[in-house]
Amino acid sequence: MNNIGDCRRITVKIGSSTLTHAATGRLNIRRIEALVRVLSDMKNAGKEVVLVSSGAVAAGASKLGLPMQKRSLAEKQALAAVGQTELMRLYERLFASYGHSVGQILMTKDVVDDGHRLELVKNTFRMLFDLGCIPIVNENDSVSSEELQFGGNDTLSAYVATVCESDLLINLTDIDGLYDSDPRKNPDARLIHRVEEIDDTILGFAGGAGTERGTGGMATKLKAAGIVGDKGIPMIIMNGRDPLKLYSILDGESIGTYFDPKKI
Ligand code: GLU
Repeated sequence: MNNIGDCRRITVKIGSSTLTHAATGRLNIRRIEALVRVLSDMKNAGKEVVLVSSGAVAAGASKLGLPMQKRSLAEKQALAAVGQTELMRLYERLFASYGHSVGQILMTKDVVDDGHRLELVKNTFRMLFDLGCIPIVNENDSVSSEELQFGGNDTLSAYVATVCESDLLINLTDIDGLYDSDPRKNPDARLIHRVEEIDDTILGFAGGAGTERGTGGMATKLKAAGIVGDKGIPMIIMNGRDPLKLYSILDGESIGTYFDPKKI
């Protein structure tokens, strides 16, 4: 993992459960501030950074004072419309305070399935990098029908890392990485530091879905690792509780779970 520090273009995905407070579902401003600070510094150090941020539905619900609960597709679409602007307002202001400009890209699955539209969005990313901007990506939840959905931002982040030819995908989540059993139930659960191949044993370690505030779980993260791995891109799953740990990753420390990519 020594060459992680050499990765130039890095996609960082942060999930809703990491972006919000468990008790209230409201945005965790301290964590978001820390994340933006580190990403800005990575950019200052010469990295190209892409942020895939969830949290639109959660931010919309919190803005409108609604409780955390399972919701219908129409409700989620409306809440995402409210929350996406809220999220971007915060990101824009925080990145601007470090002198960085952001560009929002809202994706739907049909974009990556259509060769022509895929080329267009690749050009958009390329141009944003050329202009020195930090792309911030989410699914276009407000217009996504079931058929157009990526099935969550874990999968979206894998496509984004691929589309913009990232050297590394980092998935910031609410658990330290992949364990051999559920650490919330088994105190002896062991963290898997490195996955060379996503075989049946590894797939068996992934439990069910995530929390009420997010949609992912370990299964979608393993799927994401498979998607990027096939393209030769490594992925790290790590706890997003302390975004400063991203520095340690870049220093080559073994944190979370590292997925070896296929040699291509
Ligand atoms: N795109 C959704 C949002 O911003 C989140 C999907 C996910 O958590 O995977 O609320």
